[in-house]
Amino acid sequence: MKNDINFLRFLAVHSSVLPFNGSMADAQMREWPANVVLDHVRDFVAESRRDHRSEISLYVHIPFCQDPCSFCHCARIKLLSQQQLERYLNLLVQEADTWAEPFQGMPFQSLSFGGGTPSILSESQIYNIFSQIHKRFRFLPKAQINFEATPATLTASKVRVLKQAGVTRLTLGIQSMDPIVLQGTGRVQTWAQIDSCVRAIRKNKIPILNIDLMAGLPGQTAVSFLRDLKRILKWQPDILHINPFGSVESVQAYSKHRDISYREMALTRISMIKEARNILLKEGYFTDNGNSYSRVKFAESAQEVSITQKSGSILGLGSSARSRLSGRAIWQAMYGAGAIEKINYRGVVSDGQSRMAEYLIYNLLRADGVSKEVFFSLFGIQLEDVFKCELSILMASKIIVWKRGRFIYNGDWSGLSLFEYFVHTKRFYGERLLMCLRKTFEGAYHPDKDYSYHSEGLPAKIMDDSFTALLSQM
Ligand code: SF4
Repeated sequence: MKNDINFLRFLAVHSSVLPFNGSMADAQMREWPANVVLDHVRDFVAESRRDHRSEISLYVHIPFCQDPCSFCHCARIKLLSQQQLERYLNLLVQEADTWAEPFQGMPFQSLSFGGGTPSILSESQIYNIFSQIHKRFRFLPKAQINFEATPATLTASKVRVLKQAGVTRLTLGIQSMDPIVLQGTGRVQTWAQIDSCVRAIRKNKIPILNIDLMAGLPGQTAVSFLRDLKRILKWQPDILHINPFGSVESVQAYSKHRDISYREMALTRISMIKEARNILLKEGYFTDNGNSYSRVKFAESAQEVSITQKSGSILGLGSSARSRLSGRAIWQAMYGAGAIEKINYRGVVSDGQSRMAEYLIYNLLRADGVSKEVFFSLFGIQLEDVFKCELSILMASKIIVWKRGRFIYNGDWSGLSLFEYFVHTKRFYGERLLMCLRKTFEGAYHPDKDYSYHSEGLPAKIMDDSFTALLSQM
């Protein structure tokens, strides 16, 4: 056996929190001088022009939060002063300057502001940053313009400015209104704030309102989660994301303070997700992936669709924002202390196989599954030439089935755990990438601990049988 079985089990236990593409790239990234990034960009733009391809989105990261929530894994820091924010925005414009010329004339399909908390910007800062971006980059006429906000920082006047700036999709990150969760995580928000945000969004006719909720947060109960969901549904968001919570450190810290196991937490989370799904389907929402539910067509984030379903490219601006050019390079801008000092880059030349594995994983988790023809059109190679062994194991285990000319996930999406378990314990990433994952998780992984029975709430016997069957084929 080439792989360390206990480590694979560790990955399986924590599969719902594995930022698999992120951790993989993080561990391999090295410092890159700006001219190396620039060379990759120029080659990418030249190839895109030659091949008449232009599947690219622009992402702007605002890393600041008023009071960062303890459960959050995003790249975020506490905002200490307005001066810090201004200096950050100046650096952001400088970074935009670097890429404006090489991308000149190449239209972006979407623009997204994420964080952190983009709505922490003042009205004039929002206005300025949008105009600086539009001065430097060109967007398709129907480009989706996304902006993320929290109820505590979004005001009616900011919504007016966002509408004028062309925002077409606004995400309100509510996560939870359970008082114990809010108290325990340092998050401050009220129903009155949410109500006034939603009214302003509707009044200004921003086409898509997306609301983010989390399931399974420390202290959150199924009762409070469903109460929040039902109250939120009265506002009829166009799309809702129900994100499962899982965090190695937070869960460990949480378990120390409360008499509840990781397994119990996982079971509660799975039951919340199942119940939410029943409610949302009854309310007329539809889903093709088990964690986002839409009421109207095209409510999904165009950027996410481009990356996950079309293997599209993205240019990221701002501290920690990740850029990736199709089949070429992944890099990240790192701004120094407090996100206000000189910009450095870290990057890695992407390994074609990882990109294909990522595509396969994302899309097997969608209702449409994976078509061999689409795979070939994106990567120029037959799916089974790359993943023959993986697909046959997933098929033999009935984790996926072949239906309507596509490979499709055969589970109920409530926890996704068994599927993810197979994905992460398989060799989709090979030995080299597993080594990187080991490095990334070395603080959390204890080689002497037996991870075989901490199975994301699934019956241990199912997990163990599946694992044994899987290992016998490796
Ligand atoms: S406000 Fe949003 S981005 Fe900031 S810490 Fe909380 S969840 Fe994370």
